Amino acid sequence: ALDIGHDLGRAILNARTFEREHHLVEELQALDTYKSQLIATVSHELKNPLTAITGHLEMLEGAPDLSGTVQASLRAMDRGARRLAKVIDDLLLLSKVGDPHYPIITVPVDVRRTLEEVLDLSSVAAARKGLTFVTEAPDTPIVASGDPDELHRVLANLISNAVKYTADGRTVTLTLMHTDDGVVFRCADQGIGISEGDRAKLFQEFFRSTNPQAVAEPGTGLGLTIVKRIVGRHGGRIEVSSELGRGSTFTVTVPAA
Ligand code: ADP
Repeated sequence: ALDIGHDLGRAILNARTFEREHHLVEELQALDTYKSQLIATVSHELKNPLTAITGHLEMLEGAPDLSGTVQASLRAMDRGARRLAKVIDDLLLLSKVGDPHYPIITVPVDVRRTLEEVLDLSSVAAARKGLTFVTEAPDTPIVASGDPDELHRVLANLISNAVKYTADGRTVTLTLMHTDDGVVFRCADQGIGISEGDRAKLFQEFFRSTNPQAVAEPGTGLGLTIVKRIVGRHGGRIEVSSELGRGSTFTVTVPAA
């Protein structure tokens, strides 16, 4: 009888702990939703006045008879405004792809085309550093299932990082293939690499490495968080392997169409 009482007591205690924990999880989920909504609202509110600022800056830059000092100031303001716009856009996208209720589009996406588009857009930045892109992909179309804009963003962020964190004159290798798991995209650079400690924090919001070679590059620390969330909501996964001073390889797998 004692044992039964003891067991019953434990069961009641367990049930209460479960109830408390369940309550805690719900509270945390509500806070997370609140955080996302706050970020989305603030970003929207910041975006409108910024659009007005960049519009007027553009108009002023076109004005005749500006002194060199004024022109330099306008250019500095323009650079600042552009950086701010990038942060706001990233925050807006992050709040969308981080929201489990935000609908996901799943259509067939020819990722070889996506890769070509992204490489086209990245070619100026790469050429400035004398970087070479090497693409390894079969001639047949590689078709993933997902949101074309979001998948474009995944490739663009990974390739932009490879360009930013790789020294002049090196090679960035892009691979596309079909496997039993789905469509695989791999971006391998010969850049500065990522330490083991940094790798553990790589996908956290606002994380930026303190590696002296990395801090000089502009960035928000949101790119990889966005990539990870997009891949996650597609039911895919992302892996990274890296060696400090030698380079990094990011491998993304998403469902095939
Ligand atoms: P951002 O590049 O805007 O800082 P990300 O979220 O894209 O933000 O990347 C976070 C950090 O991870 C970067 O600041 C950089 O230190 C490191 N990182 C990302 N990609 C690479 C890469 N290919 N090689 C070396 N370091 C990288």
